Amino acid sequence: MQLIEDLKSLKEVIWYNPNYRCFDEVKDDLPVSLEDVLDAEARLKRFAPYIKKVFPEVVDGIIESKIDEIPKMKKNIEESYNTHISGRLLVKRDDSLPIAGSIKARGGIYEVLKHAEGLAIANGLLKLDDNYEILADEKLIKFFSNYTIQVGSTGNLGLSIGTISAKVGFKVIVHMSSDAKRWKKDMLRGRGVTVVEYPEDYSKAVEEGRALSDKDPNSHFIDDENSKDLFMGYAVGSMRVKKQLEDMGILVDEKHKLAVYLPCGVGGGPGGVAYGLKLMYGDNVECYFAEPTHSPAMLLGLATGKHDKISVEDIGLDNKTEADGLAVGRPSSFVGHIMEKLLSGCFTIEDEKLYKFLKALYVEENIFLEPSAFAGFLGPVFTGDKYKDENTIHMCWATGGSLVPEESRREFLSR
Ligand SMILES: *Cc1c(COP(=O)(O)O)cnc(C)c1O
Repeated sequence: MQLIEDLKSLKEVIWYNPNYRCFDEVKDDLPVSLEDVLDAEARLKRFAPYIKKVFPEVVDGIIESKIDEIPKMKKNIEESYNTHISGRLLVKRDDSLPIAGSIKARGGIYEVLKHAEGLAIANGLLKLDDNYEILADEKLIKFFSNYTIQVGSTGNLGLSIGTISAKVGFKVIVHMSSDAKRWKKDMLRGRGVTVVEYPEDYSKAVEEGRALSDKDPNSHFIDDENSKDLFMGYAVGSMRVKKQLEDMGILVDEKHKLAVYLPCGVGGGPGGVAYGLKLMYGDNVECYFAEPTHSPAMLLGLATGKHDKISVEDIGLDNKTEADGLAVGRPSSFVGHIMEKLLSGCFTIEDEKLYKFLKALYVEENIFLEPSAFAGFLGPVFTGDKYKDENTIHMCWATGGSLVPEESRREFLSR
């Protein structure tokens, strides 16, 4: 297969999904539904008074980010790549999500809160129609301290889950892969989280975390590779995108297609977002996943149909990338199966380009993002031949950045 040869030689590629189908043909055969997403959205509404109480910076208790239009960056990309991007270029600012500073504030926080709600209700400490502020009472915090949350992470998921779990009162253990940045581990330890470090990659951190958690009946393992709850937390964001675009006066329909470019690691974040967008816009939105040339796990899983039965190491790649949030060698099969017919395509990007985009966005639009968040920015260049209509709306999903310390920012910008 030519594609595999290209991946092996670390060539940047775009793969258009030959199994793509109309959303109506596919939606009833999926293990997730609109009802699931609405249920998650309602749960997050119930938690809003609690979030507002314990994180006063989240003014309305709803963890959400804005959408910006970036015309200067669009021009910069057109000039750098000697190309034309038809239509408008937007960026979804999940880098600025409160509490965790990345897209993981969606899935991670949602799953921890759902778990806390379940425990409190089962033990007669909470009712659905209570004001959830009571979860911040000393009595409840003490109750939650009998339970443990564990998770395996390349950094940001640990940051999100560690922070919210410690706030709720849970004991929390984050199993970090070798890619995880020092400052993320330090920040977590400062927040009372136990961080266990592994010299190996993400899959190993997950495996060890899962095994330890399984031995403790009071421990809940947040399974990035298989979690429907995480997926739902991400999908809720897409319900809100529709309203945000409407408020910006941006219409999405057959004549105004939305193309969305999502950085992909194990797949949960981009998968949940893409699924939610499909629920909102059906065939009028087309989603693409973006991965580093050294870690094209989802592309490999989808293109071969082997999902988690194949890893990037199996084709001789090293899974070493500066995009720490995307350093995943084996994709989620749960997400891969959902995306099989919904995803329009996947593409890869060299690490070096991540830094070029990082600098350009900072200079042109005064927006700082972490390297992983730039994987999608090559999307509009790759799809230039496909979207020739000036009504096209391109949206790059910026997945993280606001918590990056000053010292690392300077280092990233000087590369
Ligand atoms: C985790 C992460 C992603 C990808 O999410 P997955 O669920 O792992 O696919 C993208 N960007 C950043 C910054 C992340 O932390």
